[in-house]
Amino acid sequence: MEGKELALSFHILYERLAPEYDYKTQKATKKFDENSANGKLMIAVCNELLPNLRARIKQLEDTFKHYHDHGSKRDRTDTCKECGLKVKGNIMANKEEIKFPPINN
Ligand SMILES: [Zn+2]
Repeated sequence: MEGKELALSFHILYERLAPEYDYKTQKATKKFDENSANGKLMIAVCNELLPNLRARIKQLEDTFKHYHDHGSKRDRTDTCKECGLKVKGNIMANKEEIKFPPINN
């Protein structure tokens, strides 16, 4: 997935859900235009978000794979009974947590 694809998906859902939240979206941006200032901004935001989303998903996958490989033997202190690996939240404790929103500078 690229920023453009995520931006378009976001736009479609945003327009579809707006009435349920009593929100009227802007007439000028009802149709997604990737070449408009608004479209370019949306794509740029999504392009910055995507690496963090991917990294976060990878961490979750790695963690779940670990427990799958070790028979889901996880005790109450979030420690793998098989190898003693610690987990912080849903993330293996030896990995840095991905922050949202992404702040890179
Ligand atoms: Zn383990």
